[in-house]
Amino acid sequence: MKEFRFETLAIHAGQKPEPVTGAVVVPIFQTSTYAQEDVGKARGYEYSRTDNPTRKAFEECLASLEGGKYGLGFGSLKISRIACMYLLSPGDHVIVSDDVYGGTYRLFASVNARYGLEFDFVDTTQLNLIKKSTKPNTKMIWIETPTNPMLKLCDIEQIASWAKSKNIISVVDNTFMTPYFQKPLSLGTDIVAHSCTKYLGGHSDVVSGAVVTSDEKIYEVLKFHQNAVGAIPGPFDCWLVLRGMKTLSCRMRDHEANAMKIAKFLGGHPKVSKVVYPGLSSHPQHELAKKQMTGFGGMITFVIKGGLEDARTVLRNTKLFTLAESLGGVESLIEHPAIMTHASLPKERREELGISDGLIRISVGIENGDDLVEDIASALDKIPQRAEARG
Ligand SMILES: *Cc1c(COP(=O)(O)O)cnc(C)c1O
Repeated sequence: MKEFRFETLAIHAGQKPEPVTGAVVVPIFQTSTYAQEDVGKARGYEYSRTDNPTRKAFEECLASLEGGKYGLGFGSLKISRIACMYLLSPGDHVIVSDDVYGGTYRLFASVNARYGLEFDFVDTTQLNLIKKSTKPNTKMIWIETPTNPMLKLCDIEQIASWAKSKNIISVVDNTFMTPYFQKPLSLGTDIVAHSCTKYLGGHSDVVSGAVVTSDEKIYEVLKFHQNAVGAIPGPFDCWLVLRGMKTLSCRMRDHEANAMKIAKFLGGHPKVSKVVYPGLSSHPQHELAKKQMTGFGGMITFVIKGGLEDARTVLRNTKLFTLAESLGGVESLIEHPAIMTHASLPKERREELGISDGLIRISVGIENGDDLVEDIASALDKIPQRAEARG
């Protein structure tokens, strides 16, 4: 269905009416096994770990949104990452963005590293630093762009073409932008990874992951391990993400419009020392954002001048922004990376990355944008005036 545009693919790719009943919506095929036509002759499905029609619809739809050939669903992005590790052998070296999602850092550094893989966490915004960290055994580069929570950007095209020249597999975690705003495969990346838990699902009601690739060899290895390891999402989880993806374009446009409004508000606020949002011209990589993204997303990071104590006041006083981890749902969330999502990073590492105690991350939802601005404004107003602040 390559000839159709994004919004059309989201609704139709992989989702023909069900042939027996004509059901317009892909049913939840809650079955583990399938009756076979004859001995040794299946109707296309044998066992749901290997394939399931609901999962297939979800995988095909996501692949088509990313402009890729093959999609593979997993129980979470964490599992997708483990699956990607099966492309490697003990002794191989992997370069990873230094301010990745805390759980990614923990998985690579504390779990995968025990099985003979070597990881280096590198500032992947700088190609020269990537080059410097490359070793003869480097076989994969795993980047997040924008990174989490500092929203630094990596030049996908530059990294992918360098990786290709060295026979290194490039992977982009596209969770923050989604294919609506960023298509890494079209920029030369080998694999796109998603936490579908976030924007793709979009309603904070499912945990699931996926990868997309157009490389047949990579697909064969991942497909083998998806079945062999069995870390698959259930049919209902696939159905929820498939349903979520239908409205992805509308939601992403609203997330972004609200985020822009809030970022501008925060930028002019006396109690905020810094706002990081790729859509602001103050973002150091705003030009790259405009080059490789078609929008700026719904995530904002900002720093409260007064540090931890004042950040706590803000976190405790929003009424619409719920204090919670995760992101990408229709509802707005607020969190404190140093204490919450990035607590698994050692303190020195957090400080190196700029994840200070006054730093807050928000996932801007699709409520009314003015209501959201007023909510943040009133929480900021609760910060007590101090002598030094009055100056
Ligand atoms: C949430 C998130 C993950 C983890 O996803 P799971 O599906 O919970 O494994 C990884 N990367 C990013 C950027 C995320 O936001």
